[in-house]
This record gives sequence, C-alpha cells and structure tokens, in this order.
Amino acid sequence: MTILAEILAVGDELIHGALLDTNSKWLAGELEAAGAVVQRFTVTSDDPAAMREAFAGACARADVVVATGGLGPTLDDRTRDVVADLLGGPLVFDEASWAQVRHWLGSRGRPVPESNRRQALMPPGARPFANPVGTAPGFGVRVDRAQLYVLPGVPREMQVMAKDHVLPAVRSMPGITPLAQVWLRVLGPSEAALGERIEPFMVPGRNPAVGITASGGLLTIRIVGTAPTAAAAAEACEATARELRPLLGAWLFAEGTVELPELVVAAFKARGLTLAVAESCTGGAIANRIVDVPGASAVFRGGVVAYANEAKEALLGVPRACIEAHGAVSEQVAAAMAEGARTGFRADVALATTGIAGPDGGTPEKPVGTVCFAVADATGTKAWTMRIPDLGRAFVRDRAVFESWRVLLQGRGSG
Ligand code: ATP
Repeated sequence: MTILAEILAVGDELIHGALLDTNSKWLAGELEAAGAVVQRFTVTSDDPAAMREAFAGACARADVVVATGGLGPTLDDRTRDVVADLLGGPLVFDEASWAQVRHWLGSRGRPVPESNRRQALMPPGARPFANPVGTAPGFGVRVDRAQLYVLPGVPREMQVMAKDHVLPAVRSMPGITPLAQVWLRVLGPSEAALGERIEPFMVPGRNPAVGITASGGLLTIRIVGTAPTAAAAAEACEATARELRPLLGAWLFAEGTVELPELVVAAFKARGLTLAVAESCTGGAIANRIVDVPGASAVFRGGVVAYANEAKEALLGVPRACIEAHGAVSEQVAAAMAEGARTGFRADVALATTGIAGPDGGTPEKPVGTVCFAVADATGTKAWTMRIPDLGRAFVRDRAVFESWRVLLQGRGSG
C-alpha cells in the first residue's frame, strides 16, 4: 500500500512571482523521506474560491495533505475559513491557542491586538498545533480522504511544526512504506561518464533505485530503497552502495548531504593547514561560504576581494608590471595574488581567482568565461586557466567557486 501525499501553498505573492515556493520543496523531501509518495504540488492565490477548489481537490485525491500559508491575523488570511467551510461548520475559538498567541507576543513586549484572536479560531474538529517560534498556530483535521495539516507560511515556523506534528504522524501511518537513502557525492567525471560507469544499476524499476543528480558541477548518486521495515530499506541501500563504491574510485569524495565548503574545512583541519583566499571575479563568494561552516576559524585566516588592479597591487603586492605585461586575467597575476595572500595572511595555502564573468570585457584570446586560478603552498605556486561556458555572469562565477572547492579538495589535475 502507498500513502499518497499532496502539498498546497497559499499566497498571492507566490502566484505573482514575487516569492519562490520553497516550502513545498522542503516538505516534499521530508514527506518522501518519511515514506509517503508525493503526487502533486498546488500553489493557489488567497482567493477563497480558488483555495476551496485546491483544498477540496487535494483532500479528495491524497491520504496526506500539507498546506502552508494564510494563517495570519488579517482578513486576507483565509485558510482556516476555507477549511471550516469545506467541513461545513463554523470556526471554533480555541482558548489554549489564544493563550499561546498572547504569551508569544507578550513575552516579547509586543502589544496583543484583538485581531490576533482570529489566529485562535479553528475549523470544527481540528487539533491545534502550538507554534513554538511564532504566533500562528497550525492544525490537523480529517477532510474527505485526507489527513490535512495546515501550517504557517513562514519557512522556519513551518519546518519546526512539520517536524513536531506532521512527519511523526506520517511515519506511523499504517501502510507507509519505509524508505531509506544513501547519497554518494562524486567529483571529476561528466554526468555521461558517470552514467556509463554505473549503467547496470540505473535500470528502471530497480529497488533500491539508483539515479544521478547534477548541481553546479557536483554529481550525486542517490540510492533510494523501500522495504517492509526501515532497517531493511537502509540495509538494501547500503548493499547497493557497497557495490558502487569500488566502481567510483577517486571520484567518490564524500557521502551524505554534506556541502563542499564543509569538506574543505574538514580536510584542512585534518591536515592541520590554514587557508587564505584572494578573490577577484568570485567577489568574496569563496570566503563567504567558508565562513558559513561552523568551526571555520580553525582553518581560515582570511580573504581579500581585490577587484580593481590597484587593489591587487596595494593589498596583495601584485607588481604593476605583471598586470601590464599579462593582463589582470592571467595565470601570472593569479599566481602573484595567491602568493600575496599566503604571505599577507601567513597561511599555509592560498587560493586566488581572477576572471572575466561578463557580459563585457571578453576578447578573442580571453573570452567571457576565462578564469585563472592559482594555489600557493609550501611546495610552490601552481596557476591554470579554465574556459567556463559563457552562460551568464552568475554561471561563470558559480563555476569558478566550484572549481575552487574541487581544487582545494582534490588538488590540481584530477578534473
Ligand atoms: P504569519 O501569521 O506568521 O504571517 P501565515 O501563515 O499567515 O503566517 P503567510 O502570511 O502566508 O503566513 O506568509 C508569511 C511569510 O512566509 C511570507 O511573506 C513569505 O515570506 C513566507 N512564505 C509563505 N509561504 C511560503 C512558501 N510557500 N515558500 C516560502 N516562503 C513562504
């Protein structure tokens, strides 16, 4: 038996393109991990007729429906009214929810407007869910075929309440199919080359299923298995992973959902090395992502964004003659930037980027997408050039950042 799930996002700003519906993406991943099969997302405006149609449709088709948004205190927050209307009963005032709303606002020294009372109104038969990180309570209620869960739109609040109330209930539904996943992270080959290598595993209908996802140059092999118990599903995925690992060799650089900057910090920590960066075209993106990693201070000495030629000279000691002779986007300048950062920050390793992200500034010899990199360490300085496809400024910069992670993890020459 399969538990079918649908996700519903409510909000005018979502359908007008002002806001990206990230709630549905997050919920889909979590519901799938809990063993449900997500069959549809619906995004609807705040219009009551549109909402009613969306809620009625989803609750007729699915066993679990999770809706987000429209639980605020104002009259255009209509989710609770629409659900009450579907159930054919009036909203019921819930004293405990009202106490929580008052407590949340009061404990922050905020006034408690009467309009917030609306947030304590529940559709008939609904079980209120306390909101530990905001005002809007959520609720769960049976509607037609579905167990319907309604959560606030604010992503942080929605996630906390889904983890507290929705996902545990879904995991314990009779008929849920336990699902496990193993992620193998791959750096180096093209998607096609990786696909060829693991082709026998990618047959449709295999359980565990094996698929490849490509994102920003990083490849992830997702092994997803179902079985009667969670332990059996995990063991089936692990058995497939055991067969795949020897086929991947050095391409396999990590497992799980870990991000590249975390791995760079971990690798430097393990080797007892410190890092500095000198960034031109990447504009501080490398430093920014490294500082995102908790514990980065053990490894990261600092970074310079040296965009103008004068900044490369003044902050990193790149000789003006070097820039004049080779151009700011050259392996010689990248090398001088890396050496300047290594000395200036007293780091063991320094990485530099300088490139042409576009749309202007390209020449026949150095078209848009030309990025020079250098790494300086105790063994010397290595510089090289990449021709990144000119698919827009953001693409070129992202690829340059990605190449930086790759080289900091694998060294020059493996990709
Ligand atoms: P609150 O009372 O806390 O405002 P609410 O349920 O009324 O809760 P909304 O007013 O619908 O929530 O949304 C609040 C904010 O949450 C939006 O302005 C938006 O920033 C964010 N948000 C809402 N829905 C989504 C969504 N589907 N994906 C991402 N962000 C969302």
